[in-house]
Amino acid sequence: MIESMPHKPGRHFLQIPGPSNVPDRVLRAMAKPTIDHRGPEFAGLTRSILERLGTVFQTSGPVILFPASGTGGWEAALVNTLSPGDRVLAFETGHFATLWRAVAARLGVEVEWVEGDWRHGVDPSVVEAKLEEDSSRSIKAVLVVHNETSTGITSRVAEVRRAIDAADHPALLMVDTVSSLGTAEYRHEEWGVDVTVCASQKGLMLPPGLGINAVSEKAIAATESAGLPRSYWDWRPVLKMNERGFFPYTPPTNLLYGMDAALDMLLEEGLARVFARHRRLAEATRRAVSAWGLELCPLDPAEYSDCLTAVWLPDGHDADELRRIILDRFDMSLGTGLGKVKGRVFRIGHLGDMNDLMLAGTLCGVEMGLGLAGVPHTKGGVAAALDHLAGSRTD
Ligand SMILES: *Cc1c(COP(=O)(O)O)cnc(C)c1O
Repeated sequence: MIESMPHKPGRHFLQIPGPSNVPDRVLRAMAKPTIDHRGPEFAGLTRSILERLGTVFQTSGPVILFPASGTGGWEAALVNTLSPGDRVLAFETGHFATLWRAVAARLGVEVEWVEGDWRHGVDPSVVEAKLEEDSSRSIKAVLVVHNETSTGITSRVAEVRRAIDAADHPALLMVDTVSSLGTAEYRHEEWGVDVTVCASQKGLMLPPGLGINAVSEKAIAATESAGLPRSYWDWRPVLKMNERGFFPYTPPTNLLYGMDAALDMLLEEGLARVFARHRRLAEATRRAVSAWGLELCPLDPAEYSDCLTAVWLPDGHDADELRRIILDRFDMSLGTGLGKVKGRVFRIGHLGDMNDLMLAGTLCGVEMGLGLAGVPHTKGGVAAALDHLAGSRTD
């Protein structure tokens, strides 16, 4: 315990857009004793997790787990499929897209970077135009962040797929779903995604610690010619060992217990209901923001995120000072502005293990905080959100 911190009664509100609240059921599952990762019980655990993860990614192909953060998942996607000097097409949708670009660049991949204003997602027509221009077919992959967690913007992956097909281009499609999987519709197979990158700590409701790749046959075929050095991140030994329910190294057993419980929870609720719940919570949050008279970071309603809401503060007001006051007074953590929108934006996470009253409490904290921080706003955001929550169907 940090001694200078006195006990705070009640539950901390962890309303950042990841790590999200870990449900008690997952925490309890993780408290079981660690077992032999080469023993007979383990194989059943692995197989059952990988099969149900496929359901969540909506793929019948393999899903690969690494003890890692999402950043490890990005690296694994790249090193398994690309060679030094290969070109990839990527889009500046926000902070996470920018970080993925940096990983690619450090690995020696050449990134064709389409600049953006951090208020829009990937424009499918630009994907099509860039690929049409690439007559030598030197672009090997298109990188898309599905839900840009720094801006609360969701890109339209199905439309990006159609754009790649319209250009009749062979590039691999790689999609980051670190914050979208388990919060919004995502179809790895139907959308023809070659590598989907994810991590445990957001929509999947686990603590941080698992990086995930869902992979297509085309992506697996690319491993044979990919020339980037890889050892730990190599998919091939993992795929081989996973067939028998094991890993080529010591897996994070207790996180896998947590994953087992989290998948049960997601599938018991049903993915359609999970997504509808996130949509309701997001819509209620946006109504609150609108009633406060504040601006959302995304400018296109077709790209509003169901996972988090990024709120733009009026000029002259510091979003981190607002966050500091809310943490201090109400024991609630909100997401900080990242990269280019630092200080301008704060983010309300409404993902994972969330319900109506948790959101109501969250929005109460924000509304009180706006008042205490002297941010000009109209009262009544909470009331507008409650009207939506009470008046909208939950099934
Ligand atoms: C959180 C996040 C990441 C980064 O994951 P780490 O686990 O911090 O490495 C990547 N992409 C998106 C969209 C994210 O939200």
